[in-house]
Amino acid sequence: MQPLTPQSLRASFVNTSKREAAEAIPPIKLDAIDWERHDIFGWTDRSNPLVAYVVIPVDDRPVGIMLRASKNKPKKTMCAFCEDIVDLSEVKLFVAKLAGPAGRKGDTIGTLAHANFSCSKHVRRKPNSMEGKADPEAFIAHRVDALRFNAERFARRVLGEN
Ligand SMILES: [Zn+2]
Repeated sequence: MQPLTPQSLRASFVNTSKREAAEAIPPIKLDAIDWERHDIFGWTDRSNPLVAYVVIPVDDRPVGIMLRASKNKPKKTMCAFCEDIVDLSEVKLFVAKLAGPAGRKGDTIGTLAHANFSCSKHVRRKPNSMEGKADPEAFIAHRVDALRFNAERFARRVLGEN
């Protein structure tokens, strides 16, 4: 994805107040991130473990989304973003307020996702024996595409586009 700056990150949020966007501070310096290896970028809030943020490119524009995590412990289940069949742990249900008037009315949507948003890493792993070793590069490219597609679809739903 395109590198984010503190300014573009803050400006990307679509379902927060200005104050909430200003308080969305990632735990790592943005210039230390290898953006080419990220399809999405997310983190958990430092002071509130039930709040998380994820930035998803939509038509090359970053869309920042504030999420609420369910209080339940992470379950072994499939992440709806990366659909990894190996790492099924630490997948949580997150709920996002919709952007605009719908969100102010209280409308939300949910998704299952890796609690630490490690999806970009999962889709870049080498295929295991069940997944076919013939063409690891094609396998990874396909999974990267799927992650981008799934994440973008979620972001568009938050935006109220579908
Ligand atoms: Zn994932």
